[in-house]
Amino acid sequence: MKKDYYEILGVPRNATQEEIKKAYKRLIKKWHPDLNPDKREEAERRFKEIQEAYEVLSDPQKRAMYDKFGYVGEGTHGGGYTYSGGGRIPSLEEILREFFGEGLGGFFGRDFFGSDIFDVFFGEGTATRERARAARHGEDIEITLTIDMVEAIRGGRKEVEYERYEACPKCGGTGAEPGSGYRTCPKCGGTGYIRQESRTPFGFFVTQTVCDMCGGTGKIIEKVCSMCGGSGRVRRRHKVVINIPPGVSDGARLRVPGGGNAGEGGGDYGDLYIIVRVREDPRFKRSGQDIIYDATIDYTQAILGATIDVPLPDGGTTKLKVPPGTSHGTIFRLKGMGVPSSSGRRGDLMVRVNVDIPKSPSRRERKLIEEIAKMKGYI
Ligand SMILES: [Zn+2]
Ligand SMILES: [Zn+2]
Repeated sequence: MKKDYYEILGVPRNATQEEIKKAYKRLIKKWHPDLNPDKREEAERRFKEIQEAYEVLSDPQKRAMYDKFGYVGEGTHGGGYTYSGGGRIPSLEEILREFFGEGLGGFFGRDFFGSDIFDVFFGEGTATRERARAARHGEDIEITLTIDMVEAIRGGRKEVEYERYEACPKCGGTGAEPGSGYRTCPKCGGTGYIRQESRTPFGFFVTQTVCDMCGGTGKIIEKVCSMCGGSGRVRRRHKVVINIPPGVSDGARLRVPGGGNAGEGGGDYGDLYIIVRVREDPRFKRSGQDIIYDATIDYTQAILGATIDVPLPDGGTTKLKVPPGTSHGTIFRLKGMGVPSSSGRRGDLMVRVNVDIPKSPSRRERKLIEEIAKMKGYI
């Protein structure tokens, strides 16, 4: 027996995509198994049919095939189409996100449900301050550390200060005032869950959600810690000394285990991630493990040769002998004076020599040059 997808969705054969979508949405509200706990079996069967019909009719290609042959798919088993979910029933949330790009809020609207039911149904209970918080792993923290190029090349220890949550020193993370204890949550009776039955325009609801008063722990604090207000953690400035690896590059990410936030309710600390930013040094250009330094020499030094001072990227200077007859742009490679790498190999410092030609030489200088030019027959 072939299924009539148009009939299932209750739309005419010439229905537009908009009409199909609307019909589908209306039918999910009516038949999603989660909304029909009292007749789940029937709901599942209907829902699968609806899903199947929608998947075919909402896809122009499949719809055309269905219109032509009465079924979709290459199967020889008499047609039919198995919707992509297989046997699994997607949750309402999933359907809404996938097909309509919206959340449950827009789907039902607060007009249909009072906000109470709404909250219970979606499990977004409002936290009360007194609940005993379940221990949760603390969040990671990311901070940026800007260092000079010299520091980056040398590496070494550096103190970093930042703010984070630490376990409350008064209650030790439990959130309960010292000396006071916990009592059973009055809202859920200690089960951590709330069962609610309600009648709505879409049928009869039975929902079980995490208790919003105790957050699922089943316990509430008798007296909240006066220091942390029950969260079990407080904001503090914290210092760590980190090891900057020599030759660290801009953008490197260093991890400090346990340097993140303390978790709520006495949970472990997350990690700290330090993003290293290397401040540029106008004198040096970094090219991988090598560094380029531009040195300027006078034209007389270029001709006669000279010994010049070259600053080193990790501090200090070195002497470089520029041989006589050095032309503009010559590069001298100082082996092993560049950036160290984790493999132990160090890059080079490349000194690029720029020859300075004076634009307005002094009268005497000019005279002497003219002398040379005459000697060479240029003037
Ligand atoms: Zn505390
Ligand atoms: Zn509770």
